[in-house]
Amino acid sequence: MERVVVGRDAENSIVSGHLWVFSNEVLEKPAGVAPGESVEIYGQKGRLLGVGYINPRSLISVRLLARERISIDPQFFERRIRDALRLREGRFEGSFRAVNTESDFLPGLVIDKYEECVALQFLTAGMERQREAIVEAVERVLSPGAIVLRNDSPAREEEGLPQYRETIKGSVADGVIIRVGPLKFRVDVLEGHKTGFYFDQRENRLLLEGYARGASVLDCFSYTGAFGLYALYFGARSVTFVDSSARSMDVCRENMKLNGLSGGEFVKSDVFDFLRSSEEAYDLMILDPPSFIKTKKKIKEGEKGHIDLHKKALRRLADDGLLFTFSCSHHMRRQRFRDLARVAAYGAADIYLLRELSQAADHPVLLTIPETEYLKGLILRVRKR
Ligand code: SAH
Repeated sequence: MERVVVGRDAENSIVSGHLWVFSNEVLEKPAGVAPGESVEIYGQKGRLLGVGYINPRSLISVRLLARERISIDPQFFERRIRDALRLREGRFEGSFRAVNTESDFLPGLVIDKYEECVALQFLTAGMERQREAIVEAVERVLSPGAIVLRNDSPAREEEGLPQYRETIKGSVADGVIIRVGPLKFRVDVLEGHKTGFYFDQRENRLLLEGYARGASVLDCFSYTGAFGLYALYFGARSVTFVDSSARSMDVCRENMKLNGLSGGEFVKSDVFDFLRSSEEAYDLMILDPPSFIKTKKKIKEGEKGHIDLHKKALRRLADDGLLFTFSCSHHMRRQRFRDLARVAAYGAADIYLLRELSQAADHPVLLTIPETEYLKGLILRVRKR
């Protein structure tokens, strides 16, 4: 294996539990190394820090895969995937995120399990290069009926990788029906967002049980309807689903039928436009937008987006209404998200924080890697002045 030598900051960071080395911390690297090639990683004084992979094109040049000298082969991936499954045992079965990149010590690899179908995502050149070994390990550990590669993530562009989707085993042309808790969902594993379904909100949707009974609910950014369908299941009087994607709306409608629920209204619209023009007052609102802050440079702009969204939402919320609001950007700090909600309500309402929310446990947060924590949510009770 080729060797790289990293600077003191990177060494400290790795010893403290992070898995990344930024390009400016790579002091020596082999000439002509291919993107994604496996490397041994050494500190300046010759200490072996572990093995990983390198991508000279990426700002995060090296990612660690192990802290000892081992070979990166199907057996390695098999061990790591089994470890990840052990962590989820007893709490997750059937359909869930089986491997979540850095927090399962497999940086750049996502494995989502949709019943008998497995969706893989290689976010880095290092993982793309190990494609055969990963697929072999997945076959051995999960023996899926279908395997889909969802290698169409924007993250791949930073790694110099092409965008593609491919079914390498079985067929998922008609989508997959999954069960998540008490409900069923049709998941479009080939065309849906990310790999098809947002498992990270699983536990937060269940919290609607305590709040949705009898309520008129507005599910903003509803995608295939998971939040709103839980609300209906827990006894909401009505749910209005709003999303700008016609395709998501169709699946959403179908998912309502699939669960024998009724009371949904489906609006294909921009959420901001809808909130501006609607006259309704809703008892409970869910705001689960896409990430407004994709890079550090977009923090200010994204914060404005959240304030604007909250202001518009507050106008459509009944007095003493409830707001489930989320940010899925790791650049958004927890305290900052609370502050933005407060700013949006300035002079108009008193806001009570009932509960702080995070990502589901199949997306573990590794405390030594702050970037693994991204989903923040608040359940707020809003008393208008
Ligand atoms: N709440 C969903 C996930 C939301 S993902 C769930 O629980 O599964 C974000 C969704 O927002 C996507 O479906 C996307 O189509 C939609 N979207 C993005 N920008 C939008 C906008 N300005 N108005 C309406 N929908 C938007």
